[in-house]
Amino acid sequence: MLLVAPENFFLFAPLLPEAASGTIEPRHAVIPLREMLRRTQLLVGDVTSIDLAAHTAVARDLTGAEHEISWQQLVLSPGSVPSVVAVPGLDEHAVGFKTLADAIWLRNQVLRQLETADATLDPVRRRELLTFTFVGGGYAGVEALAEMESLVTDALHTYPRLGRNDLRWVLVEARDSLLPGLDPKLARYCEERLRRRGVEIRLNTWLESCVDQTVVLSDPAVAPYVSATIVWATGQRPSPLGSGLGLETDEAGRLIVDDGIRAVGRSDVFALGDAAAVPDPDGGVCPGTAQHAVRQAKVCAQNVAAALGVGQPTTFTYRNRGLAVTLGRNQGTAQVLRFTFTGLPAWLMGRSYHLLMMPGLARKVRVVADWTTSMLFPRDLSQLGSLGRRAPLA
Ligand SMILES: Cc1cc2nc3c(=O)[nH]c(=O)nc-3n(C[C@H](O)[C@H](O)[C@H](O)COP(=O)(O)OP(=O)(O)OC[C@H]3O[C@@H](n4cnc5c(N)ncnc54)[C@H](O)[C@@H]3O)c2cc1C
Repeated sequence: MLLVAPENFFLFAPLLPEAASGTIEPRHAVIPLREMLRRTQLLVGDVTSIDLAAHTAVARDLTGAEHEISWQQLVLSPGSVPSVVAVPGLDEHAVGFKTLADAIWLRNQVLRQLETADATLDPVRRRELLTFTFVGGGYAGVEALAEMESLVTDALHTYPRLGRNDLRWVLVEARDSLLPGLDPKLARYCEERLRRRGVEIRLNTWLESCVDQTVVLSDPAVAPYVSATIVWATGQRPSPLGSGLGLETDEAGRLIVDDGIRAVGRSDVFALGDAAAVPDPDGGVCPGTAQHAVRQAKVCAQNVAAALGVGQPTTFTYRNRGLAVTLGRNQGTAQVLRFTFTGLPAWLMGRSYHLLMMPGLARKVRVVADWTTSMLFPRDLSQLGSLGRRAPLA
């Protein structure tokens, strides 16, 4: 069994917003793959090409060397990448919110803006430095904004020269509501909570440009403004690895598979997660969530084993049982079967569910220790942005 992955760790994405806000240590949102998969060979690098007819693939390792791999059964789970559209200035000024590096960067950026604003006497410039724009009102955008807002609110008392009026939080969403797929009542609850925390929520609005950090929105009622931090958390599209292989895809570019997670017309190729259109037992295709991906992975593993003569094949029958959104500051919503929860109970349910799903006892204990510490002590506000750069020797 060989796994090709670009990092030597597995990222537990639901904890990414908390890793960004520092409620948990970023390293605790990941699990080393070599610890998780003791009987799997790991090649850290990227698959650059796949030949379905020859049953081979080429992977490039960290040194740039290429390795030809022969395979018997192929599992494609390359996930998704942000859907970047042609918005002037986006490449230069916006950051995505998908990887651990994004989360660490965002935390350092937000803390850096606080330090810079504290040293700035010009009130207009200070507000520009403390203006944070999040584009995309889905789960990643809402949770990331909520967590960063709670980080800044907690940090503010250590900056006596800065006040709440210096801050501006803007959430831009092209649809007419936040959090698609969530019970509309709960989505409105999240919206109202964020508004009460001072977040400007701009629905039916999109980002037109952000050249030189000047944000221009489609709503003419909002005057262009400078935002030193712009987070691009809009929808995702399937990673390009699966395209161009000649396999059947849906209109979104996801690889179409059957309820055995097998690609159409192939007995030796499986696809799952965000890059695949897996039939949902409740109709349509599964949404791109971790809770679906991990269940698909189990079915896929059993069917790969069955194809190799071990055990019986199975089908994907998992039904979504709920959704939780955490907003930091003990706030959130949860939907379990037909029951809905808000506030502290929902926040606790969201955290408990994440803990339950987190693989490995050691990581669970570390995360609980982080949560406990963050409840008992003030946040750690160290800005460690310089650590990622090598200092010149002289
Ligand atoms: C901020 C955030 C919060 C989220 N919160 C939740 C939540 O609370 N609950 C929930 O259910 N879901 C949540 N999700 C969604 C969830 O993370 C995804 O649905 C899930 O990770 C999909 O799993 P996957 O294996 O398909 O893709 P991924 O987890 O993205 O893994 C795919 C991997 O393949 C790698 N890869 C891509 N191309 C190649 C290549 N050519 N060669 C080698 N490797 C490659 C990628 O780099 C990546 O490491 C969240 C997502 C984000 C971004």
